[in-house]
Amino acid sequence: MTPAGPRKTAARFAALAGLGIVLAACSSGADPAAYPDGDIEVIVPFSAGGPTDTVTRMIAEPMAEELGVQIVVQNVDGAGGTVGAGQAATADPDGYTVLMHHIGMSTAPALYGENLAYDPLTDFRTIGLVTEVPMTIIARPDFEPDTLEDLVTYVQENQDEVTMATAGEGAASDLCGRLLTNALGVEVTTVPYDGTALAIEDLIGSQVDFMCDQTTNTTSQITDGTVKAYAVTTPERIDALPDLPTTAEAGQPDIAVSVWHGLYVPAETPDEVVEALTAALQTALADQSVIDDMAELGTTPVALDQATPEAHTALLTEQIATWSEVIGSQGG
Ligand code: ASP
Repeated sequence: MTPAGPRKTAARFAALAGLGIVLAACSSGADPAAYPDGDIEVIVPFSAGGPTDTVTRMIAEPMAEELGVQIVVQNVDGAGGTVGAGQAATADPDGYTVLMHHIGMSTAPALYGENLAYDPLTDFRTIGLVTEVPMTIIARPDFEPDTLEDLVTYVQENQDEVTMATAGEGAASDLCGRLLTNALGVEVTTVPYDGTALAIEDLIGSQVDFMCDQTTNTTSQITDGTVKAYAVTTPERIDALPDLPTTAEAGQPDIAVSVWHGLYVPAETPDEVVEALTAALQTALADQSVIDDMAELGTTPVALDQATPEAHTALLTEQIATWSEVIGSQGG
């Protein structure tokens, strides 16, 4: 892949982001059978320009076209995605406020316990899964280690000095960072940001040493050498970054995670609204330009039978149990 592809894609998303300024969802509170008859706001619980934002903007345009209204992306960042999710949980259940969230929906209960303002399973209805994004382990361009093997040794020898960026407790970067430091048996200083778009800026500027981040935010920087990359966290190498070894190839099979995303609405949202949103999501995921844009950034849409409330709820339920156990065993 040449660097020109991802830059073009990023420019397209930036243009779409501009549309987001014209916002103000006009929730009608009207008959659900007439849904939608006003703009829909999608809350992204991380900063603009980051991986969750990018995936959201990829599907927003075809979904909006299918629904015949505008979709406006709102970044409500903070506390590893829990601020935006909390806001979405208490929105009017009329389908005019939708949440895009990722694997963090399933790690937050274990990480935040009673301090979590919402229950992912009972305060929301699921619309469907969207995509599963690989993560990469990356570092500032002038960081000393050149390979994952070097990084392991370096971090173990310098754990008091090294710094790791995350998008806050509950973010995917935080989860992957925990798997990494746990596998290495080290504790490092973490630097939390409101999204990895902000974290990677500081990484490129050498303000922080290393981090995990999704390929939807790292592919072009890895390809053009703006950051140093060590490994991808999936079992197989990915087409978008064919030279990047997997964590297992580099001797760290326990650092394995990919970041599933899904759409949610508040729990009391009527069936007609959920059905309309699921149908629009499926249309977006079958759109060839969405498939192509995702491929450039190392991911693919889920199979359409996964873009359903049933498949989404099943995965969310299983993942809450899985991560509660893993995080619990690591001491939260
Ligand atoms: N997905 C987050 C973002 O969009 C980052 C993360 O989860 O680590 O910034």
